[in-house]
Amino acid sequence: MHKDIATPGRTKEILERYGFSFKKSLGQNFLIDTNILRKIVNAADISCDTGAIEIGPGIGALTEQLARRAKKVVAFEIDSRLLPILADTLSPYDNVRIIHQDVLKADLHAVIAEELADVSDRMVVANLPYYVTTPIIMKLLTERLPIRGMVVMLQKEVADRLAAKPGTKDYGSLTIAVQYYTEAEVVMTVPRTVFMPQPNVDSAVIRLVKRPRPPVVVDDEGVFFQVVRASFAQRRKTLLNNLTNNLLGGKENKEQIERALAALGIDPRRRGETLDIAEFASLSNALAPLFR
Ligand code: SAM
Repeated sequence: MHKDIATPGRTKEILERYGFSFKKSLGQNFLIDTNILRKIVNAADISCDTGAIEIGPGIGALTEQLARRAKKVVAFEIDSRLLPILADTLSPYDNVRIIHQDVLKADLHAVIAEELADVSDRMVVANLPYYVTTPIIMKLLTERLPIRGMVVMLQKEVADRLAAKPGTKDYGSLTIAVQYYTEAEVVMTVPRTVFMPQPNVDSAVIRLVKRPRPPVVVDDEGVFFQVVRASFAQRRKTLLNNLTNNLLGGKENKEQIERALAALGIDPRRRGETLDIAEFASLSNALAPLFR
C-alpha cells in the first residue's frame, strides 16, 4: 500500500514541491486526517462494485481512499493547477478519471453513461467546496441521476438545515427539497483541525440516500416548490401573509388561499416552519389549480 496523501507531512511536502497556494475563492480546504477520510468512505458504503463520483479532489486525499475501495472513481476538479499534482499523487491508481470541469456545468448524465455504465452502484462522495454547497446538492438531486445517494462534507450549519425537523430554526425550503428526494442523516461533526488551511466554520458529514419515490404525493412539483419557498420567504410572517405576498398571483387569489387552508384545517396564522412535508403537499395540491 502507498503512503497516504492525507497526512499533514505528506500534504505539506506535495504543496511545497508544486509551489501550490490555496485559493479561498474555490473553497480549498484540504483534508489531512486519514481517519476522517476512512469514516467518510465507510459512511458511503463503497464496495468493489461501486462507481464513486467525487467533486473537487484537491490533491487527491479522498480520491485515493475511494480508489482503494471502489471499482472506479470519476472526479471533477475546476482548478487546472491541481491537474499535474493529481496525475502525480494518484499515479498508483489505474481506476481514477479526473475531469477538468466546473461540476455545475457538467453534463452528469453523459459522464455517468460514458464512465460508469458498467457498475451496479453509484455514489457521490465529496468534501465539497463550501461556497457552492447548496447549488451542487440541488443539481445532484433535481437532475435525478442514477446514483444511490451522496455522502458529503459541508458546513455544519448547512448540514443541520438539510436534516432539520419541522418547528426548528434550521427547518426551511432547503430542508423540504432535500427530504423530498432523499433521507438525510448527519453522520458526524468534524473539527476544523483536520483541514489545511483550517476553515472558519464548523463542518459535518451528511448522508443523503435517494428515496425510491417521494414521501408525499404531489400533483405539480413546480407548484409544490413555489408554495414551499413562498411559505418561508419571511420567517416571521404568517403562512397566509407569506402565501399572498410571495406566490405569483397570491394577492388576487387571497380568498381561494384562505378557503384552501380552512378546508385542510391549517390555521392561516401558523408560520411556514411549523408545516411538515405532508401538509405542504396537501396545500400545494389544493392550490395547484390556481396556478395552472
Ligand atoms: N477533496 C479534497 C480534500 O478533501 O482534501 C479537496 C476538497 S476542497 C474542500 C474543494 C475542492 O473543490 C478544491 O479542490 C477546489 O478546487 C474544487 N472546486 C471548487 N469549486 C469547484 C467546482 N465548481 N467544480 C469542481 N471542483 C471545484
